[in-house]
Amino acid sequence: MSHIIETSIELLKRFPLCNSCLGRQFSRLYPLLSNSELGRIIKILILLEVIHEFKVSKKRGSFLSDMRMLIKNGGLQEALLLYKHYVKKSSIRPEKCILCKGFFGELDKEASRIVEALKEYDFNSFLVGCHVNPRIEQLEDEIKSKYGLRWGENIRFEVDRELASRLSQILNLPLDRKRPDIVAVIDLESREIEITVNSLFIKGRYRKLERGIAQTRTTWRGEPIDSIESMIASIVLNFTGGSDTRFHGAGREDIDARMLGPGRPFVLEILSPRRRNIDLKKLEREINRRYARRIEVLNLQFASKKDVQRIKLMGERAKKTYRALIELEKEISDEEIQMLQEKLSDVKILQRTPLRVLHRRGDKLRQKHLYSSSFRRIGDTLLEAVFVCDAGLYVKELVSGDNERTIPSVSSILGQNAICKELDVINIEYIRGV
Ligand SMILES: [Zn+2]
Repeated sequence: MSHIIETSIELLKRFPLCNSCLGRQFSRLYPLLSNSELGRIIKILILLEVIHEFKVSKKRGSFLSDMRMLIKNGGLQEALLLYKHYVKKSSIRPEKCILCKGFFGELDKEASRIVEALKEYDFNSFLVGCHVNPRIEQLEDEIKSKYGLRWGENIRFEVDRELASRLSQILNLPLDRKRPDIVAVIDLESREIEITVNSLFIKGRYRKLERGIAQTRTTWRGEPIDSIESMIASIVLNFTGGSDTRFHGAGREDIDARMLGPGRPFVLEILSPRRRNIDLKKLEREINRRYARRIEVLNLQFASKKDVQRIKLMGERAKKTYRALIELEKEISDEEIQMLQEKLSDVKILQRTPLRVLHRRGDKLRQKHLYSSSFRRIGDTLLEAVFVCDAGLYVKELVSGDNERTIPSVSSILGQNAICKELDVINIEYIRGV
């Protein structure tokens, strides 16, 4: 019946153990009490046993030795009070817990330090954890196996739980194990606090009103050139205090094509933001004011990591409408325009990877659907065309034929070289409910 008391006495004879580290060895027997409460109850019971033993046996020597154990290795104040009654000049002091090194005695202080460290960041959910030197876990495992302790829990679980409940209360925020905005990890021994700020995601649509702007950050002959990402990021990073951005677009247009109509959806990931509760309307206005007539962002909203995947799928499943300016070698008749329209509507286009992108993409044969085409003469050898096609169809090659790597093409149907001089995306329609 006295297994717990006897084992605890054996433990305390050998090792200094704080209330939590002793109680934790029996944690799963009654999880409704904290380990610290369990440990204290056990120590008080041992104290009562020791006093009872002394009253019955009158053996002062073993009584004082047991009391010293409770003070030194158990840190029990009640034992110290009584001991001083018997030994006036006592210099006996509690020793530091062999497992947590005194950490559990300073939980409130450490929780406050973590809150202080988190202060410079905006966050709406958090996670707290700890780093425990493997030596400590190994020592605890050895103790468990040597003394046949079967009801304990891992020290990390206790630290995490105790810190989480304190932080939750101080911050008045829930703990989020899945997608916390911020994670604080404290080292049990060094007490160093490491903070990881998870990315902030903002989604919206962009319109590119000027040619020559890349979508993501890129360089041309070693020099950075303007991109949708760099332009948006320059302002977003100011708003959020983030360290960097990653841009995820629902597909992309060529650098020399404009992106008009309702715009192209994108998700911007902001790394390590200090501020995340920002005014998106204000951000939108600021971007559109700074880059007026060059780019425009619309409908900015807070997003999540899931939206990144969603936006990629959207890009793959879209139906796009392009406006192309086509230059011909020689003039064509109205009948030929009519023929182009007929032959380039509701037709499968077979397309090998264009020569101009072969250096960065594998050579692949694609089959894309061209839903409709319409052509309008705007000069002797100039046509304006509107194509509605699957995402991923290379429109410049649909015009030129790309050395017969794209079949059919405007060139192949007319029997002369046609070149796409200008290209705009004027609409993107997303299908299958994404
Ligand atoms: Zn301890």
